[in-house]
Amino acid sequence: MAQLTENEIKEIVAKVLGEMQSATPSEQDWDSTHYGSRKFIGIFTDMNEAIAAANRGYKAVRDMTVEEREKIITEIRKLTREEAAIMAKIGVAETGMGRVEHKRLKHILVADKTPGTEDIVSNAKTGDNGLTLIEMAPFGVVGSITPSTNPSETVICNSIGMIAAGNGVVFNPHPNAIATSNYAVDLVNRASKAAGRPDILVCSMDKPTMESAATMQSHPLIKLLVCTGGPGVVKAVLSSGKKAIGAGAGNPPVIVDDTADIQKAAKDIIDGCTFDNNLPCIAEKECFAFDNIADELIAGMIKAGSYMITKEQADKLSKIVLVEKTNAAGKTTKSVSRDCVGRDAKVLLAKIGITVGDDIRCIICDTDFTHDFVQNELMMPILPIVRVKNIDEAIDLACRAEAGRRHSAHMHSKNIDNLSRFARAVETTIFVKNAPSYAGIGFGGEGHTTFTIAGPTGEGITSARSFTRQRRCVMADSFRII
Ligand code: NAD
Repeated sequence: MAQLTENEIKEIVAKVLGEMQSATPSEQDWDSTHYGSRKFIGIFTDMNEAIAAANRGYKAVRDMTVEEREKIITEIRKLTREEAAIMAKIGVAETGMGRVEHKRLKHILVADKTPGTEDIVSNAKTGDNGLTLIEMAPFGVVGSITPSTNPSETVICNSIGMIAAGNGVVFNPHPNAIATSNYAVDLVNRASKAAGRPDILVCSMDKPTMESAATMQSHPLIKLLVCTGGPGVVKAVLSSGKKAIGAGAGNPPVIVDDTADIQKAAKDIIDGCTFDNNLPCIAEKECFAFDNIADELIAGMIKAGSYMITKEQADKLSKIVLVEKTNAAGKTTKSVSRDCVGRDAKVLLAKIGITVGDDIRCIICDTDFTHDFVQNELMMPILPIVRVKNIDEAIDLACRAEAGRRHSAHMHSKNIDNLSRFARAVETTIFVKNAPSYAGIGFGGEGHTTFTIAGPTGEGITSARSFTRQRRCVMADSFRII
């Protein structure tokens, strides 16, 4: 066997060291354009250029066979599993919100349970007049606006579904989660490259703004807008004049009646409510408990890692986590403090002078229906509990708290009449019975996952087929073979 020269050995050592460095960059060495020594692919400073590149991506996807698309999706799943922990860490570090381990699990869920090309199903109708074929076609370039609460999860989940459907995608992510979101955009492009396809398949901005969102919304090449976020942005895209999918805010109530397994209900509710510090829009946000089991439920919640605060402490905390704003017309509204959203229970309690250990994951309190904690979507591990006399009152108040958002609602009960009555009355996209809320997105429950739950526009638990449009092909008087 030939001996290696000293120079060849030096070259090999330098190469290996270089690869090791690029694989494990310093955790702080990242922004919206790079991670360590790796420069992100597909990130633009100008939205028009990003859209033009996404259009080239669309044309490339259009030319692919379904098998080739699926190969890219397989690579996306693989990289997402491998890099879930990195994205979880950057997500928490950049936004200050959520929990690393829970974010890691959310990425694994996206990798495992987001439908791919198998979700696109054609339909055929045959009869005396021949054969009609209905196929699900891509829209073209999709403009996607993504939130700060599940940033990389949404980018990857959207990308899988949109590419499976044959589209190109340009993202305008939340500015507070831009490094995390663009990491995911780069991951999708790396997956494309690894599958032997274009380097730039999906695109994003280095500094997304309202202006770049507006450019996206009015650009002629954008044929579908998909928006995941609060009420402001959903209203904005639905007013754009384009086909839009709006995945908006929720305020999910959970009812516990006196037939439920109370200890299980207590643990399930705290597990759901504290998952990623309550950032998921589906998470339990307020609880309506039958008066005759409320004490037992509260005891179970305390056992499951909750800290009970008094009414006075709840009022004090409320003034910190909700900020009052008065507009030019003198109207006062309350909005959540960005410094409190997705923070650990321990951090929130410290704000009112209470010191607890890491074992405390939720703050609970006995409140009235009118309390701000019930009426506002906090996205914090704070769970107000409202006592109710019976199922009529529980359904009435829970529906009023959900306030017609048609997002998510949950219930713990063994009474099928009560379960059915609430499900019918609340009309939410997701309704979970006797499990933590996250069972509704396929985590411990059957069915696929999504991080874009489109209640307002009706697509529901979105998947690849949501990002398609129908096309019909008619063969008159032939091709019926019976
Ligand atoms: P957000 O509404 O602050 O931001 C969402 C996105 O919209 C961001 O990219 C933001 O930059 C953009 N945006 C906001 N106003 C806009 C406007 N007028 N025009 C264009 N773009 C605009 O939301 P967030 O804090 O990142 O996320 C939390 C909210 O999103 C909660 O209300 C939560 O319930 C909701 N959410 C819903 C779903 C769902 O699937 N239905 C999923 C995640 C989050």
